[in-house]
Amino acid sequence: MTTNVPAPSSGNVDQAELDKFSALAARWWDPHSEFKPLHAINPLRLNWIKDLIGGLAGKQILDIGCGGGILAESMAAAGATVTGIDLAEKSLKVARLHGLESGVPVTYQNISAEDMALAHPGQFDVVTCMEMLEHVPDPGSIVRACATLVKPGGWVFFSTLNRNPKSFLFAIVGAEYVLRLLPRGTHNWQSFIRPSELGASARAAGLEPHEMLGMGYNPFTEHYSLNKDTSVNYLMATRK
Ligand code: SAH
Repeated sequence: MTTNVPAPSSGNVDQAELDKFSALAARWWDPHSEFKPLHAINPLRLNWIKDLIGGLAGKQILDIGCGGGILAESMAAAGATVTGIDLAEKSLKVARLHGLESGVPVTYQNISAEDMALAHPGQFDVVTCMEMLEHVPDPGSIVRACATLVKPGGWVFFSTLNRNPKSFLFAIVGAEYVLRLLPRGTHNWQSFIRPSELGASARAAGLEPHEMLGMGYNPFTEHYSLNKDTSVNYLMATRK
């Protein structure tokens, strides 16, 4: 018997990474907390996704590594049917509570991307996996799971951090030590992923890169913007 299915998930998780997010979980929805940058960039990425897929209404969307649900809830509020998955239970609890308060329905599940892919192959119009790949031991396995989960013709969106001297300077030294936008130790530079590496993983999994954008931060205006400079933070849209 051939077993041409994704390998079960067990293993592709770094408990220390989950613990970092669990420790902060109560502050997911505090716009002045450690999660301020995610709140600040959310409208930008939400609009980018919405424009590429031609509107969110009626779409079946899976958000992998959803955390407290910042992106998941905003997609649901725009009319999508959203499932958010994460392996940090505390964050999922916060996400569910926030959903009750806001009245925006999202289904949250504590399940790995790989197990989700085994259970629900080809079920989603759109899969999003934002700011998460740099926190897992084997990002390629997550990319393959995304490819399995999305319908043919569907979209998979990634965002992560590039790996080069500039990203060390900006994302670690600048963001964690100088500007203190993020707690020290949030990111390991070695786990950052070059666009060429993500693109290769995507293609190998049957996802064709469609568009790539950089995300810039101006520390003087405290303003984030999407641009063509992918040298630090970047987003990649792919299609199956
Ligand atoms: N995607 C959200 C949160 C990013 S923070 C957003 O962009 O707003 C990174 C998230 O990845 C955290 O919630 C963390 O718990 C989750 N995570 C880390 N490793 C994971 C894994 N192996 N499987 C699922 N989620 C993971």
